[in-house]
Amino acid sequence: MARIVMKFGGTSMAGTERIRRVAGIVKRQQEAGHEVAVVVSAMAGETDRLVNFCREANALYDPAEYDVVVASGEQVTSGLLALTLQAMGCKARSWLGWQVPIRTDDAHAKARIEDIDAEALTASMASGEIAVIPGFQGVSPQGRVTTLGRGGSDTSAVAVAAAVQADRCDIYTDVDGVYTTDPRIVAKARKLPLVTYEEMLELASVGSKVLQTRSVSLAMKEKVRVQVLSSFIDESAPPADDLPGTMIVSDEELEGSDMERQLITGIAADKNEAKITLTRVPDQPGAVAAIFGPLADGNINVDMIIQNVAKEKAETDVTFTVPQADLLRAQAMLEERKEAIGYYRLISDDKVAKISVVGVGMRSHAGVASTMFRTLADRGINIQAISTSEIKVSVLIDADETELAVRVLHTAYGMDATA
Ligand code: ADP
Ligand code: ASP
Ligand code: MG
Repeated sequence: MARIVMKFGGTSMAGTERIRRVAGIVKRQQEAGHEVAVVVSAMAGETDRLVNFCREANALYDPAEYDVVVASGEQVTSGLLALTLQAMGCKARSWLGWQVPIRTDDAHAKARIEDIDAEALTASMASGEIAVIPGFQGVSPQGRVTTLGRGGSDTSAVAVAAAVQADRCDIYTDVDGVYTTDPRIVAKARKLPLVTYEEMLELASVGSKVLQTRSVSLAMKEKVRVQVLSSFIDESAPPADDLPGTMIVSDEELEGSDMERQLITGIAADKNEAKITLTRVPDQPGAVAAIFGPLADGNINVDMIIQNVAKEKAETDVTFTVPQADLLRAQAMLEERKEAIGYYRLISDDKVAKISVVGVGMRSHAGVASTMFRTLADRGINIQAISTSEIKVSVLIDADETELAVRVLHTAYGMDATA
């Protein structure tokens, strides 16, 4: 007998029929003798719909009230799944964030889980009841509902798995594993049977939305075994224990497997950033601090940064990227400080995409970046900014060229699946 946390994403929960299919998968897992808890997302498109309502009601919405609205999508699906399981003869009940409770900090709309009280939950699971938990939501120290940021149900699932000391956390989604790149963009993407926590963390943080970044760092810290697999399986599919999804493993496990380590693990694209350029910033100590200090205070994450060396005029242009969702706020802050910073013009562009190649093999191999630059140049794709880390190279390009760039890079690094 094992204790398993199963998470189902929005596409898997979209409508009565699909929820019935999910209930079938859950029921079979329980019939195999396992203790199960299920974490569910809102129906596909529902969270977007709710976010839009908030924007329409009040463009500068209060994040605490936003949370009240957007957390409701998962409340609906958790109740519906519990009802469907009951209709199939299973013992099941829903546990809302405040009922478990899943305690978070009070950073509304991007709250962090601080602690999960798993006692009542484990007792219920041990009694043969299926616990259904809405993902994405928690409760703040003030007792108010919080949400964990977009894609946050993955993090709920991993956190619940850690709290109940589950043997495994199975993330069921609409693709059957983690691929070398988004299989919806590149048909020749290959499924990875194993991927290390470190590589998955980097891939998620540069835009592979198959797992929320925080869910991967939490799994790594708490040593949760995470598997990504498809919920679109039929009755005759093998039990989850034998399903060919993607297992997230430690470095040692990968070394011990017969999988050959590749130079590049994957390629990700992120269209959620925007570029800001400030022209003719004075080239003197404190100038850059005057730009980025206020942005940091406003909780705006700056990603790529380029500053040119000033020529004779002791002035320089500074270019950087911020999340698209924060662009208006960042612009307003910088315009307010135009004189204090001393720049000439602010130019922004939200039609950009960040393309990243990730792989631990880069540590020991030169030439990954130059292959990237050459491949993009051959296609006439202009690079607007570059950033690197030990296991990643990212470039900023025109958003319209995203698909082409990912496809040609996938081929250039020899990652295309042979048909
Ligand atoms: P869910 O609703 O189940 O949480 P998401 O839409 O958040 O699903 O994540 C799954 C999607 O992630 C896939 O449909 C796919 O388009 C996208 N994706 C991006 N990069 C990858 C990758 N490297 N491997 C697999 N899927 C990826
Ligand atoms: N429903 C939330 C979202 O769409 C959380 C999730 O599905 O992971 O972001
Ligand atoms: Mg998701």
